[in-house]
Amino acid sequence: MILDKSLGELEEYVLSLGEKKYRAKQLFDAALLLKSLEEISNVPKALKEKVKQEWMCFSVAAHLVSKDGTQKVALKLADGSIVESVLLKYKYGYTVCVSTQVGCRMGCKFCASTIGGLKRNLTAGEILLQVLFFNSQLGGTSKERKITNVVLMGCGEPLDNYENVAKFLRLASSEDGLNISQRNISLSTCGLVPNIYKLADDGFSVTLTISLHAPTDALRKTIMPIANAYTIKEILAACDYYFEKTGRRICFEYSLIEGVNDSDENIKTLAKILKGRSCHVNLIPLNSVKEKKLMGVNRKKAYKIAEELGELGISATVRRTMGEDIEGACGQLRNRIGGEA
Ligand code: SAH
Repeated sequence: MILDKSLGELEEYVLSLGEKKYRAKQLFDAALLLKSLEEISNVPKALKEKVKQEWMCFSVAAHLVSKDGTQKVALKLADGSIVESVLLKYKYGYTVCVSTQVGCRMGCKFCASTIGGLKRNLTAGEILLQVLFFNSQLGGTSKERKITNVVLMGCGEPLDNYENVAKFLRLASSEDGLNISQRNISLSTCGLVPNIYKLADDGFSVTLTISLHAPTDALRKTIMPIANAYTIKEILAACDYYFEKTGRRICFEYSLIEGVNDSDENIKTLAKILKGRSCHVNLIPLNSVKEKKLMGVNRKKAYKIAEELGELGISATVRRTMGEDIEGACGQLRNRIGGEA
């Protein structure tokens, strides 16, 4: 697909078709605007014919707008797979929350994305498409970008699709492309330790966000199967390495589940294991997922926990819940079968 290619790769491709190199830039710029081939006026028909197979092909299966202005789109890809993405408006600009896989195989007990397992990985271009969709919708271009931030927090586990995600990060931050600074991109992972090291070694500097959700391995194992593969100690060691390499403060996500991980002791233990690290805790009162029995704490309790963590020397905030009425909040994105979105 055309969006999978960097400008350099597109140049090679265009040359291999026996065309002039400058054609690549024309196609590249048109692709970033999500133009259809018919809409491109500065490229000859014969070339369009040659790249037809490569051109992006998608449709909007559903587009919902929440009371709070959050938008959720379900895009139908060439093979019929549906991916959900969310647009969030903040004071400083717009953030797009992208999916990295169709479904997910991590099996977290509280998350809708994992119901039905993993269907397939998304390609770099299919992840980029989600950002470009909202950018062009808002009237933005690559030079006059409307999207300021990207979070890899939709469906899927980014580090379970490492190569495509790495390529997406390069494309999204490339000067030829959207030129989004890696500082403004957050990658959230349930903690695939070897790939946290790889991310650091490959020279990325995105904000690393860890879905921790429990302060002990025993408790974590009851809600997140990945805890059977990697201990919290191993995750924290990988985070320390990432911090040393990048200087980027690590963010820990902690979804507050009533009666599961919200006791005084849980919070004290959490503070103890994070103490001394340059990090931030993002508390998320669990959002409801109809198939799951777990309940979130109320916001008042979440604020109290944030305060308590602060007193224990850990910076913590409560994440705003956005788009819950359109199932666009954390953990509510899911894989749907064609057209059902
Ligand atoms: N697989 C990645 C990306 C998903 S990000 C990861 O695990 O980090 C989505 C974030 O929302 C994660 O922190 C996830 O644990 C959290 N989440 C999942 N289900 C949730 C729910 N029902 N309510 C609140 N947060 C949830």
